[in-house]
Amino acid sequence: MSDEASVAAQRRRVDWAPWAILGILALAVIAIIWLANRKQPPLAARTVKTGIPLTTEQRSVDFQTADLTFDVQPGDKRIDGHAVLGFLVKAPIARLQFDLDPELPIKSIAADGRALQDSAWKNDGGLVTVNLPAPKTAGEKLTLAVDYGGHPHIARRAPWDGGFVWAHTKEGKPWVATAVEGEGCDLFWPCFDNSRVEVGTVTQHIIVPKGLAAPSNGKLLGIDTLSDGRTRWNWTARSPNNYAVAIDVAPYKLARQTYQSRYGYRMPVEYWYLPGEDKQAQGLLAEMVRTIAFFEATIGPYPWWDEKMGVVETPHLGMEHQTINAYGNNYKLAPEGFDWLMNHEFSHEWFGNQMTNGDWDDMWLHEGFGSYMQPVTIGWLHGRMGYDEAMWKQRQTIANKFPVVSGRHQTEEEVYRPETGPANDIYVKGSWVLHTLRGLIGDQAFWTSVRREVYGRPDPRPGNFQPRFGSTNEFEAIASQEAHRSLKWFFDVYLRQAHLPRLVTTRQGNTLALQWKTPHGLPFPMPVEVAIDGNRQVVPMTSGRGTVAVPNPFSVITIDPDSKLLRQDDAMDRFRDDQASKRASAST
Ligand SMILES: [Zn+2]
Repeated sequence: MSDEASVAAQRRRVDWAPWAILGILALAVIAIIWLANRKQPPLAARTVKTGIPLTTEQRSVDFQTADLTFDVQPGDKRIDGHAVLGFLVKAPIARLQFDLDPELPIKSIAADGRALQDSAWKNDGGLVTVNLPAPKTAGEKLTLAVDYGGHPHIARRAPWDGGFVWAHTKEGKPWVATAVEGEGCDLFWPCFDNSRVEVGTVTQHIIVPKGLAAPSNGKLLGIDTLSDGRTRWNWTARSPNNYAVAIDVAPYKLARQTYQSRYGYRMPVEYWYLPGEDKQAQGLLAEMVRTIAFFEATIGPYPWWDEKMGVVETPHLGMEHQTINAYGNNYKLAPEGFDWLMNHEFSHEWFGNQMTNGDWDDMWLHEGFGSYMQPVTIGWLHGRMGYDEAMWKQRQTIANKFPVVSGRHQTEEEVYRPETGPANDIYVKGSWVLHTLRGLIGDQAFWTSVRREVYGRPDPRPGNFQPRFGSTNEFEAIASQEAHRSLKWFFDVYLRQAHLPRLVTTRQGNTLALQWKTPHGLPFPMPVEVAIDGNRQVVPMTSGRGTVAVPNPFSVITIDPDSKLLRQDDAMDRFRDDQASKRASAST
């Protein structure tokens, strides 16, 4: 190489250096932006679903206890878990399976206190299979201890999509919540992700940074202070729904009262809220006490009378977490003077937690009944106008695109997606079906049917009932018994068909003819009340048809003057669709 060439090469090196530094800086900036905005991996196909049928191994055991330790690290949005799961073996097994999000890697598993080799277990897309050191026979016990940890799935729009919510209070303190109804318990603890499985006792030990509180399900066993200042909150709960097991962390304050029940027991009523809201908290606490007294008088004893009634303020709207319901309605004022969100979630202690659907296909038993309790409560507070107005609002969003109950197994996702299932109709149409049923069979038969469905008996008292699973078929049978006649036609048309029955009326001379038109011509002997010039009469409609005499051509006729009947209403549908299209164009 000549001298000239060497000088040129040196110059190139010198020219090149600042560009290299700039390039490295740019890459670093891009990397930081990417890290800050990185998308979390999508949930595994199995993990995203809840209500998948149990595996043979899962059906071979009773899931009796879950002792769950969660080390919650808001700074890193991380949890480390230690779960001790207790099973009673019902049929011989050589291996066991449970569900856990594969994004929470398992560090170790021990069976009956013996650490297993890593090769003895694997997490295959969210289904963990553990080969036991020796087969188990019926009657034996099995304990699995699972150590795991990582960054749990983050919910972007809780509670409609599930996961952790890592929020902050106004003062910048951590405010953490979980809501996993749609995806299931396997988003943060090893469980059987199916509503058919309720673990007998769930104990939680929630470790949180200094200065934060962790209210949870059931009874408080105690709070330990660790040597580094963190605290461990120990709770135990009886038979919670697995999606109702919840973690809530914030610098909470506690508003508390003792409730004296008409059933003779006394119990704490607790509201955990953010600092600075003492006045609103006392208001909500008073409403909680008033609501439990009304629900006990209307439905029956509060199912968790030996634990507590609990509500916790959350960064998301709400969720029916057993004895620690999530509340995020921000004390919104309403002309009815009641908080619908607290009322709705609280109703799930009966419809959802005490009586749980045996399959997600029967989810209207949670949401239809739960949604009916708001009009019922308003009716108690304000009389008929409040009840009717609340029902009228619910009526306006009924879609009638899919049957409320399909009659086959469905996952939560299939039920809730408006493209595949009834979605919002399990709330509003479910509520209206109950309203119409009540009008048909009367208050006495209606509320006795509800009570029997919830408790499995008509005379519930604290101590004489257990949490149970319900179904639409069972409720149909109970209501038929209480009404002393078969109501199959009622449930077939309203719940098992998408379209509503249509009442066709024709006036000819001095006669008004009425006829029910139903999908597939199904029988529908629904009586219809008619007011003619203010004079009311009930047309039996036993064959789906009936006639009424009309005195003169100028008579004023009102069909169903008390709005008892859920039926096809074209004007209502046009309004609903118009509202929906206006909402759609406003949001694009
Ligand atoms: Zn609900």
